[in-house]
Amino acid sequence: MVINGEEQAGAVVVGAASESAASAAGASGAVASAAGAVIDQAKFGRFSEAIAASEGDRPFRLGLFGGTFDPVHIGHLLLAQFALEQHQLDGVLFVPCSYPFYKLIQNAATGQKGPASADQRVQMLQLAVQDSAQFAVSRVEVDREGPSYTVDTVRILRDACQLPDGSNRVQLFMILGADAMIDLPNWREAKTVIDAVTVLFAERPGSERDALLRVAQAESIDALPVEAVQLDVSSTAIRARVASALPINHLTPESVVSYIDEHGLYRG
Ligand code: ATP
Repeated sequence: MVINGEEQAGAVVVGAASESAASAAGASGAVASAAGAVIDQAKFGRFSEAIAASEGDRPFRLGLFGGTFDPVHIGHLLLAQFALEQHQLDGVLFVPCSYPFYKLIQNAATGQKGPASADQRVQMLQLAVQDSAQFAVSRVEVDREGPSYTVDTVRILRDACQLPDGSNRVQLFMILGADAMIDLPNWREAKTVIDAVTVLFAERPGSERDALLRVAQAESIDALPVEAVQLDVSSTAIRARVASALPINHLTPESVVSYIDEHGLYRG
């Protein structure tokens, strides 16, 4: 979802809006709402039932948190938790994207092993959030062909939750770290994304609040800050530590540490 330079670079346009509720109805774990829409577990994870039960006058406040998550780490999890608490979200949906081409190039240039496959990134996320009832994982982007465009994802999720009276079962928030927020205006159909969501942004070490606010003002983004502990941790740093045979305990949940070990991920 949040794939920085990749947003405008890819040649493939995913026909997101055409994905019909009918095709989703066959998916396992799908919940048919009263209006006939299908709130699919592959897309909405463990929130599918709660969203199917929501009505337009009290929509489910859904935080979308996109990224590569290769692997998920404590910086992601804490940001999601602070966003949830500070903005009264009903849940945070982690949306791993298909692997951005520019990151593949970066990894190759720095000699990094990887990436983990989409299924491995999803599995690590599921391990990381399994005990958090207000966190869930979506396959909406990894199950699509081609690069992930946030605008497609937003359309798919909104369309699935549309009610006949024009209201929606979900109110969408988008959680962004500073780097992603700065890049947002460059995304494909950025205006459509901006109009559909409230952005919840967090600073990262080295970022400046003023620069983020300037982007919000210049682009008319409905943006609210998340006051999160700033941790200088990244997936890149975790992969580098594994490649150097350094421990990664506490940088990501123990279940994810074990998974990386068992699957031999990121080893140099
Ligand atoms: P990589 O090092 O591979 O580039 P990353 O650690 O930056 O990965 P991503 O999956 O690319 O993680 O990031 C997903 C989202 O999480 C982005 O919005 C990013 O800004 C945010 N994010 C990542 N790490 C942190 C952190 N330590 N604190 C706050 N936000 C973060």
